[in-house]
Amino acid sequence: MAIVLKAKEAAELVYSEIAARVKEWKENGKQPSLATLLVEGDAASAYYASSKQKIAEKLSISFQLHTFANDVSEEELKRVIATLNEDEHMHGIMLELPLPAHLSASAIEACIAPAKDIDGVTPSNKLAVYTGNDTGLYPATPQACIGLLKHYGYKLEGRNVALVGRGQTVGLPLFHLLQREHATVTVCHSRTPDLAAQLKHAEIAIVAVGKPNMITKDMVHPGLILIDAGINERADGSITGDAASDLSDGAAAVSPVPGGVGTLTTAILFRNLMKAMDIQTSMKGDA
Ligand code: NDP
Repeated sequence: MAIVLKAKEAAELVYSEIAARVKEWKENGKQPSLATLLVEGDAASAYYASSKQKIAEKLSISFQLHTFANDVSEEELKRVIATLNEDEHMHGIMLELPLPAHLSASAIEACIAPAKDIDGVTPSNKLAVYTGNDTGLYPATPQACIGLLKHYGYKLEGRNVALVGRGQTVGLPLFHLLQREHATVTVCHSRTPDLAAQLKHAEIAIVAVGKPNMITKDMVHPGLILIDAGINERADGSITGDAASDLSDGAAAVSPVPGGVGTLTTAILFRNLMKAMDIQTSMKGDA
């Protein structure tokens, strides 16, 4: 049976580091604060925003939820972001996706101050990932994929990794982070003619597509470590990944959905908030 790569323990380790840092910030007179912008109309986004709120409360981090009607204008969202950018007591800003069709996520995200961009979505933080600039804020999900592998002691250096998906949120930034780990990466996408053949040569596969059951048992092998970053909503509202549920006796290790990459992603968002505060402090020169 495959090892189930649950993320709870890895996430708890991150949360305990954050709790210690929050205590330090407070002792130095700073209250860590995070703002999330939520446009109504997507049940999953509302759920993720409220789960972040609960975690923030547990960590004694202030949390502002800015909720907007479904027909909100791009200008209004940009105006609120500009105010949050200027607020020296606000350290992190996040925009929940997806947005309604009349809004451009990339245009709105580009307005977030890079030093407060805890999900690494602004152009300058994307560039930081691509160039390996450690002073940037990297997106949380790609970090979580690597963090989960490392937590279970899997080496990436020199390993053959099949990365399935080259999306802006997960696959593309993850490709760059994997380069920094010295993995040998094959990037697969919708035009890859024989995905099964690519997975056959892989020691590690990371899947970030957004299609349930796209990785089936006949595509995996007993030595394969599979990280499933996909999130798909079933008709009953529950979530599932991109891998079929019966892979457990076909691969060496599989990360679950829920309870895998997503669990660690949330913890890493809060770790990014701590890094954002470090960046803002050093920008002001008042360390
Ligand atoms: P995108 O929609 O931007 O990209 C999807 C990628 O999948 C594309 O590169 C596409 O190829 C590729 N693809 C589509 N069909 C196939 C196929 N049949 N075979 C191989 N590749 C295919 O996705 P995102 O990067 O935004 O997100 C990926 C997944 O990660 C989603 O399920 C999303 O919900 C999830 N996610 C999970 C998070 C978490 O916390 N766990 C956080 C954020 C996202 P092409 O480029 O050729 O079109």
